[in-house]
Amino acid sequence: MTNKENFINTFKLALRLSFGKNLEEASDLEKYTALSETIMEFIADKWKETGEVYKDKRQAYYFSAEFLVGRSLYNNLVNLLLEEDVREILETLNMDLDEIADQEEDAALGNGGLGRLAACFMESAATLNLPLTGYGVRYREGLLKQSIVNGFQVESGDSWTKNGDPWSIRKYSESQIVEFKDMKVRAVPYDMPIIGYEGKSINTLRLWQSEALLDFDFEKFNNFKYDEALVGKNRAEDITRVLYPNDDQRSGKVLRLRQQYFFCSASIKDIIKKHLEKYESLDNIDDLVRIQLNDTHPVIGISEFVRILVDDYSYDFLQALEKTQRIFSYTNHTILQEAMEKWEESIVEDTNPRNLEIIMAIDEVLLEKLKDKNATEEEIQIMRIYKDGHINMANLGIFLSHTVNGVAKLHTDILKADVLKEWYKYYPEKFQNKTNGITPRRWLLMSNPELSALITRLLGSKDWVKDLSQLKKLEEFIDDDKVLEELMEIKFQKKKQLADYIYKHEGIKVDPASIFDIQIKRIHEYKRQLMNIFQVIYLYQRLKENPNLDILPRTFIFGGKSAPGYFRAKAIIKLINEVARVINNDLEIKGKIKVIFVENYRVSYGEKLFPAADISEQISTAGKEASGTGNMKFMLNATPTIGTYDGANIEIVEEAGFENNFIFGARVEELREIESTYQPMEIYLNDYQIKQVVDTLLNGTFVDNDSYMFLDIYNGLFKEDWSKPDSYFILKDLRPYIEAQGEVDRAYRDQRYWAQKCLMNLANAGKFSSDRTIKDYAENIWHIESSFI
Ligand SMILES: *Cc1c(COP(=O)(O)O)cnc(C)c1O
Repeated sequence: MTNKENFINTFKLALRLSFGKNLEEASDLEKYTALSETIMEFIADKWKETGEVYKDKRQAYYFSAEFLVGRSLYNNLVNLLLEEDVREILETLNMDLDEIADQEEDAALGNGGLGRLAACFMESAATLNLPLTGYGVRYREGLLKQSIVNGFQVESGDSWTKNGDPWSIRKYSESQIVEFKDMKVRAVPYDMPIIGYEGKSINTLRLWQSEALLDFDFEKFNNFKYDEALVGKNRAEDITRVLYPNDDQRSGKVLRLRQQYFFCSASIKDIIKKHLEKYESLDNIDDLVRIQLNDTHPVIGISEFVRILVDDYSYDFLQALEKTQRIFSYTNHTILQEAMEKWEESIVEDTNPRNLEIIMAIDEVLLEKLKDKNATEEEIQIMRIYKDGHINMANLGIFLSHTVNGVAKLHTDILKADVLKEWYKYYPEKFQNKTNGITPRRWLLMSNPELSALITRLLGSKDWVKDLSQLKKLEEFIDDDKVLEELMEIKFQKKKQLADYIYKHEGIKVDPASIFDIQIKRIHEYKRQLMNIFQVIYLYQRLKENPNLDILPRTFIFGGKSAPGYFRAKAIIKLINEVARVINNDLEIKGKIKVIFVENYRVSYGEKLFPAADISEQISTAGKEASGTGNMKFMLNATPTIGTYDGANIEIVEEAGFENNFIFGARVEELREIESTYQPMEIYLNDYQIKQVVDTLLNGTFVDNDSYMFLDIYNGLFKEDWSKPDSYFILKDLRPYIEAQGEVDRAYRDQRYWAQKCLMNLANAGKFSSDRTIKDYAENIWHIESSFI
């Protein structure tokens, strides 16, 4: 840093202006805010400059209902290459950077993988100096906070801005008006800087907040109607009040479509306004603008764009459709039926009636085109946008996008061959694959400085941070005993750090010498946390039979939130906690296994968990996990995977070597074949040990406090009601999973052999940098170029 004196003065000024305090008086929280404000001041010119540079060229816009940003301070210091300087400066003032950075609340404006992907993409685009702007929603309440009370998940609100939000700038003067059928609201943008690594480009994430045009109805107030005076304000603010906590589950809530329409309408108006500041008309907007739709949540932006072209700028309808199609592209994130958005006609009507008319007219055009292509009546029914009183958002998105992409090879193949096969038949040129990625800055450089230092030393430079494929050169050290030992030493250090953190936050002591076996992700049946805890129960039963059983000590760590209304996912959380309570208190098994459920898993907790894992649990039912990105975070921290042939796991083992991971279980093809005849009861009756495991749900070994939760889990395995029994094939894969876990135990005994597996995973993680993914989007979907400033 050029001027430390200056930095300190700005910091002190920020403390004075924001809190009226000097250094001695300020709390850590106040120091955090002032330090963040100081960094914002430090980047202000560069941020503005980046926006200027992008103005002349084609730009891309990432529309996403979720951006799971997490914390910003530490990440921004790392990307600005200021971490050491700031740490030193703070030390001279008797302050500790880590303690101060720990004050920051996560910006949890997303549910899980989809929202975190959007955040990783933004960071990669900035690092690559690519003109990509994010558009989304500034939810007042982020993702629910989870606490575990008596083993049950209890939810509370996450008012993440209660202590301020130093990383956003409110730009009231750039507000937009959004019109609903029954009201107009003001969309106020809050801009967050997205700082690329080395700080060359600073891109923008623009999140919209809904506010009333008129905050306060004075007339009503004067007439003593005090409550009514605030009704309009509250109704407007309701639109961006909450993030719906459903991950991979659809909720047909009126307010949710309003949120989607709200941020898409405001963003499109914003893009058009900026375009018209430079050009005379919208005639060339389809040369200069590219919009990526992150799942179907922002697909309503398509009809809104057509509406504006037709109604406000007098374009001919068909011409408007052509322009729209050159601009938009759509990413599919799931094949789960319950996640496919289909909106009731009346809900779309209530949101914005003109959009419904436009959608109906688009559907007519689609119908004509399909008839021209000689599609069968059956195919047409599948591809139509309007059917049975519902609007199919995926079909709208696909029809008016020039490109549709899946998020891992297997997922894209399933889209082409199965879920979207009719679309693929008539529009094969639209389909592309973009295997997901993660940013190595947050998920390695920042969260694992120890491993990062080793890599830099071994490779002789820090270039890998911007070109992750260079990790491949680490393979040279595969027989270097010293390097292998160092790698394991670093892992042990990270495990000790996690053990301390867990003791502090969960009050449980775990042994860092035990195998840390970690499954952290949203709780969902298809992710099969249930299969994992069944395998733990199995081990427990073997230990009860023989307390001297020769197994290595293991700590099974779980973390993840359930949607509040997802009863069975909550039942699984209760079961894990109940198993933990029984096992952790059973002295007979001599502490050989322990189970921990970490409370309130989120980005900042992940930063501590991923580097400390010995084994990464990626055990979803084959075909169900579109990609996964948690799997990549573990890999990048030198961790082998125990997992199924699903999502990006397949590409991970293709890169790192089958023999360096533990792959088991039925593949998609096999499951498709047995689907209609599968009888979980047969497995239960024929495998006594599996029966013994399942029986603990009902025989009182574990108790659910009369919540009937464990009965619900049992029914899910065997009862045919609205879905097939054991529809996620837990019993089918349980025995192969147990065997694969046995192999992990055997492999871990040879520490040199194990270290080699870890090294091979690290060395081959290069493909999974989101830099690679975003370059692919830039080159093959958006056709945008980097600026070098
Ligand atoms: C990476 C990440 C996810 C996605 O994890 P998967 O295992 O891919 O489902 C979810 N939540 C958080 C906080 C993450 O960091």
